[in-house]
Amino acid sequence: MDMTNEKEKLIIIGSGPAGYTAALYAARANMRPLLFEGFFSGPVGGQLMTTTEVENYPGFPKGITGPELMEEFKKQAERFGARFLQEDVTACKLTGHHPFEVVAKKTHKAESIIIATGAMAKRLDIPGTMDGEYWNKGVSACAVCDGANPFFRDKPLYVIGGGDSAVEEALFLTHYGSKVYLVHRRDELRASKIMAKRAMSHPKVEILWDSVVENVAGGRLMESITIKNLKTNEVTTRPASGLFFAVGHVPNTAFLNNQIDLHPNGYIKVVPGTTRTNIEGVFAAGDVQDSVYRQAVTAAGTGCMAALEAERWLAAQE
Ligand code: NAP
Repeated sequence: MDMTNEKEKLIIIGSGPAGYTAALYAARANMRPLLFEGFFSGPVGGQLMTTTEVENYPGFPKGITGPELMEEFKKQAERFGARFLQEDVTACKLTGHHPFEVVAKKTHKAESIIIATGAMAKRLDIPGTMDGEYWNKGVSACAVCDGANPFFRDKPLYVIGGGDSAVEEALFLTHYGSKVYLVHRRDELRASKIMAKRAMSHPKVEILWDSVVENVAGGRLMESITIKNLKTNEVTTRPASGLFFAVGHVPNTAFLNNQIDLHPNGYIKVVPGTTRTNIEGVFAAGDVQDSVYRQAVTAAGTGCMAALEAERWLAAQE
């Protein structure tokens, strides 16, 4: 494996609001951070790249699209000298290694690391929805990415989940489908009140309460969905051209290969009130360490904390 000779002061892994904010602060502290933005691992810019309007990022009273917001974040960090590589980090050597090693196309040495790799949409194990079945042939985990596909036009579409993402996806899909059904396993939405109200009052959205999807079927493309009502045990098969998962996220930590302490739910453990992990010099920011708030603004906040903590930690080493 090719090794670069240069030793970086700080490598940031991940390109969402946490990573870019860490890069901005570290660049302004003259640390010349190198940020790995990812490539195959997910959209460069993180989850906001797959959302439409962001209405709750402070400072944008009229709203801003997710991709525009991330472009501005990146430009701001770039202005102060942050460097970016559109490569996936596939492994890290953290324990027993200082400087640490970060493996991408080449292996890079780093005195400190900020992990800001975020989280990724979960899929459910439903017959018919797997790769090689109707995945990408009607089944998706991102309405914004796939919703405009012609085979969803004026057809009945389904979203699984009851959180803000599910509601957002359902509302977005009303631009395309003839009707959008939100399939939720309970009788109450988890989504914020304002979002829940929008879904419940939208003429094209219908919520199927206490229900789960049992099966997806079709020909070349998805054509039907089988749904079970958990209260009545009634099972119905209905025409459907699309099914979108909006059932939460899993943090992106596989490349760490268990070198960092994780919570049982897979999120990175940090010392409360800080971004410090169990390995000195390695910090974690954004959704990869936050299973509770998971907002762009909280991710940006912890990105700032991580850069300040990395800077102080490096100063203390000298
Ligand atoms: P979430 O809040 O964790 O909701 C996940 C939903 O999926 C829940 O309703 C859950 O049901 C359901 N679910 C989970 N596992 C399931 C399974 N095996 N079968 C059926 N249903 C299942 O995730 P999210 O909606 O992605 O939101 C994540 C965070 O981002 C939240 O903090 C949210 O507020 C935020 N967010 C905000 C906005 C916005 O403000 N515009 C937009 C998107 C996301 P239960 O409710 O029964 O647990």
